[in-house]
Amino acid sequence: MDAPVIQVREFRKVYRGFVAVDGISFDVHRGEVFGLLGPNGAGKTTTLESLEGLRRPDGGTLRIAGVDPTRAGRRLSALIGVQLQASALPDSFRVGEAMRFFCAYHGIAPRMDLIDRVGLGDRSAAQYHELSGGQQRRLALALAVAHDPAVLILDEPTSGLDVASRAMLHELIRELQAAGTTVLLATHDMAEASELATRVAILLRGAIAATGTPLELTAAGEGLTRVSVRTERDSLGRPGTVFPFVSRSSRLGDYTVYFSTDVGPTVSAVIAYLAVQSDPLVDLRVERPSLEDRFLEITTEGATR
Ligand code: ATP
Repeated sequence: MDAPVIQVREFRKVYRGFVAVDGISFDVHRGEVFGLLGPNGAGKTTTLESLEGLRRPDGGTLRIAGVDPTRAGRRLSALIGVQLQASALPDSFRVGEAMRFFCAYHGIAPRMDLIDRVGLGDRSAAQYHELSGGQQRRLALALAVAHDPAVLILDEPTSGLDVASRAMLHELIRELQAAGTTVLLATHDMAEASELATRVAILLRGAIAATGTPLELTAAGEGLTRVSVRTERDSLGRPGTVFPFVSRSSRLGDYTVYFSTDVGPTVSAVIAYLAVQSDPLVDLRVERPSLEDRFLEITTEGATR
């Protein structure tokens, strides 16, 4: 396997005696989208900003394409693209001007195609402060990728974006990944991590609580499929109805919810029972365990430890 593009080894960061990141290690290979997940304050931004050379580690080593971000200076800015947080650009900067400025810094021709690509073609003359929050984030992504960086570092890239803009950004990230860009993505959006990330790590209070592909993490959990059933006469609501492979059940509004380890026999038994009761089925939903379920399991287990 190729050498990892991003290497994090025993990385530690302490803020005035408070250990924000406590010796974490992970590798990201070329063309991967690596998702960093974790509750507020877990240490995601600290990790990303240290890889961007903005914070100095208090222990361990960080490398991007073999380069130490704390020493690289200009060499690092050629290697990485960073989606700047809102308000990072001067208010009076016009959209097209910002793109020309960033491209001049990198010594390349302006990438006006990217302005169109993120849906800001008709806002090219608008000043930064005149853009909506979502438009500012889209511009920030266009600027981050203009110089074709080997590594793209994104901190909650789609927070506050409307549905269409989010889909557009996901498509752009997938295209960059297909072209070989390595992406490190911190997000609170579990659906986003499931859709985009090849692997994820869940950070909890500065340590990695779990890591793997989204599917591996989901499979390693309690693994219960949720079967929600609503019927006309609510015969399932009566105490004492027991079905195979159900490890627990609960009520949610008019629905009885079963958590099943083997959904086929559970659903068959529920339907047979309703036939005997002459209670017509109104709605039946089957939901596989999601990354969000697993995330909540891990973070709430960790919080009570
Ligand atoms: P969020 O999801 O809320 O963005 P995060 O996972 O990105 O959180 P960080 O911003 O990395 O978390 O913060 C990790 C911890 O370090 C938090 O407890 C935070 O209060 C603390 N911290 C971050 N920056 C500083 C700083 N400059 N000085 C002191 N403490 C800090």
